[in-house]
Amino acid sequence: MADKANNRSSFPVSVVSPDGELFREEATSLVAPAVDGYLGVMKGHAPLITILDIGELLIRTPDDHILSLAIAGGFMEVRRDQVLILCDHAEFKEDIDIARASEAEKRARERLSKRFKGVDIERGEVALRKAQNRLRIARRKEREKLIE
Ligand code: ATP
Repeated sequence: MADKANNRSSFPVSVVSPDGELFREEATSLVAPAVDGYLGVMKGHAPLITILDIGELLIRTPDDHILSLAIAGGFMEVRRDQVLILCDHAEFKEDIDIARASEAEKRARERLSKRFKGVDIERGEVALRKAQNRLRIARRKEREKLIE
């Protein structure tokens, strides 16, 4: 019982991108796409700093809403009393422009399929992964269950 109550305790989370601060609120848990796999954080998690991959950031708020963001790399710092997430780019699921991401996916696929001299393969693959990540999140309805 005490454990359960403790698990529900909240901690402040900030999500910052070059566009500014996207989110600064209390959360009861989050799941972030660390480079070596998805990482769950609750209050009292051991402090750490990790590099983030392209993926989905899920944040559970104290009123039990689950927020989903597409993120494109960055860092996460977990402290005893707060979590700071610095993203290269981040969008809330609701703000993802599906048409734009589809165009970006198409462009990346075309560039990668040509493979002529001067095409930066690594850059093309990153662009493709970013677009596919945005599309997967924007089109998905029920994957929030991941965090449960
Ligand atoms: P594009 O080729 O469409 O510009 P991109 O992957 O090159 O996509 P980024 O450099 O990752 O774009 O992001 C530039 C800015 O545009 C960021 O603020 C990012 O949040 C925003 N952004 C990019 N794609 C989308 C999208 N599909 N929906 C909403 N915002 C987007």
